[in-house]
Amino acid sequence: MKKLNRRQFVMSAAAVSVAPAVMFAGNAAAAKVDPEGPAAKALKYVHESPDSGSICSNCKLWQSDTSADWGNCSIFPGQQVANGGWCSAWIKA
Ligand code: SF4
Repeated sequence: MKKLNRRQFVMSAAAVSVAPAVMFAGNAAAAKVDPEGPAAKALKYVHESPDSGSICSNCKLWQSDTSADWGNCSIFPGQQVANGGWCSAWIKA
């Protein structure tokens, strides 16, 4: 078995300690915005827009493929909004 030098040992220990944080961040990114949450309520976010012409996937702040059911929005970092959702920050793309 090959011995690790001090630098290699520290780097491998750091990788092991960071892995759970990266995995958690991945899960957090998939969380859907809760319309009852304070930020969502303040912006009147809903999963189904009352206006089919103004939806998250045609908003300038939508950051995902327009065909995705759920996507990222710069207003709600780390959470996802519905393709057909809407909030009062909507801006035509
Ligand atoms: Fe949807 Fe509002 Fe984000 Fe635009 S700003 S993508 S309308 S949640």
